[in-house]
Amino acid sequence: MSQQYVLVLNCGSSSLKFAIIDPQSGHEKLSGLAECLGLENASLKYTLNDIKQTLPLIPNAEHTQAITILVQLINEHQLSSQLIGVGHRVVHGGEQFTRSVIITDEVISAIAQMSTLAPLHNPANLIGIQTATKAFNSLPQIAVFDTAFHQTMPSQAYLYALPYSLYKNHAVRRYGFHGTSHYFVSQQAAKILQKPISNLNFISAHLGNGCSITAIKSGKSVDTSMGLTPLEGLMMGTRSGDVDPGLFTFLASLGYTNIQIDELLNKKSGLLGLSELSNDCRIIEEAYEKQDPQAILALDVFCYRLAKYIASYTVPLGQLDAIIFTGGIGENSSLIREKVINLLTIFGLSIDHDKNLLARFGQSGIITNNKKGPQAIVIPTNEEWVIALDTATLVLENK
Ligand code: AMP
Repeated sequence: MSQQYVLVLNCGSSSLKFAIIDPQSGHEKLSGLAECLGLENASLKYTLNDIKQTLPLIPNAEHTQAITILVQLINEHQLSSQLIGVGHRVVHGGEQFTRSVIITDEVISAIAQMSTLAPLHNPANLIGIQTATKAFNSLPQIAVFDTAFHQTMPSQAYLYALPYSLYKNHAVRRYGFHGTSHYFVSQQAAKILQKPISNLNFISAHLGNGCSITAIKSGKSVDTSMGLTPLEGLMMGTRSGDVDPGLFTFLASLGYTNIQIDELLNKKSGLLGLSELSNDCRIIEEAYEKQDPQAILALDVFCYRLAKYIASYTVPLGQLDAIIFTGGIGENSSLIREKVINLLTIFGLSIDHDKNLLARFGQSGIITNNKKGPQAIVIPTNEEWVIALDTATLVLENK
């Protein structure tokens, strides 16, 4: 069989997501996830030709071991001869990377420098790049950055109202994340609305464990809710999103250390913090249906804050054609979508209950029934496919 597939690697802080994808069709020949890396119960699950398998990893296995096992799997099934390149998700590209690039020594040192801005993610991404380069040394390696899509934001959107020297000397600014997802769903939304993306304005809400929204004008990001780090903006699974910056000194006066404040805001807040139940939206929704007051509170705050953000993002757009829901919550929670749309009737949005209930588990489509004004659309995201497409494009351009 001729070469046609791309290996996509997404190294998270304690996980490795991988896939072998046909960039033309998006078909995944192999996909999988190694979880709990660095912990006793590290494991690797994969689906090959639609058959699911689980492999226990050595206790405390790290990214390098997980990738080594993935490479063995690829070789055992004679898949490596079909690969044209390896695409890596890289979380932080700073201001340097406005698009995907072929990885060189200079790119590696720039990603390493950016680790100060993404200490959990960029070092893991680099391990993925180094291990894959060794294992597949004849294949081009490509970096696809979460931040790149948002590099079109104007300075009024990306600057904080802080001393300018912090931006000039320490690159303190808003970068935004989930760029690959926001890009993908906006392209898909234009197809659904059957208009060129240059004539369309969207607000896309990526609602998963991490949540962010982006204002997209004619296909370009003009504002987004995550900032210097992925903590700013919407309320998330365990992250607080926006808080009063005065909170830090207040918590310090209560005796909290920097590490404790960081953990409180990143790991103990959001849906988990308010519900006192779980960060898993499914569990909170079950409790909400049973009238659990904490679950009601958590979902009310989540939806109210999201609706307020959506309303404010009409400012950079002027005209709004559609709100896009994606990510685990956005793609599956008809309850949250309905609550948010009901808070936005001022824009003429009206929910179609039947269509809203049907849009889940990978089903996409318009879920509003208003004749005029913006629509709401559910679109399953596919960041891996974008990484495969960018990789294939760069490999062909550089042949
Ligand atoms: P992600 O990070 O995109 O994988 O999304 C994870 C989030 O999606 C978790 O909060 C899950 O609880 C949520 N999620 C997944 N399936 C559903 C569902 N059927 N209903 C509500 N939330 C869901």
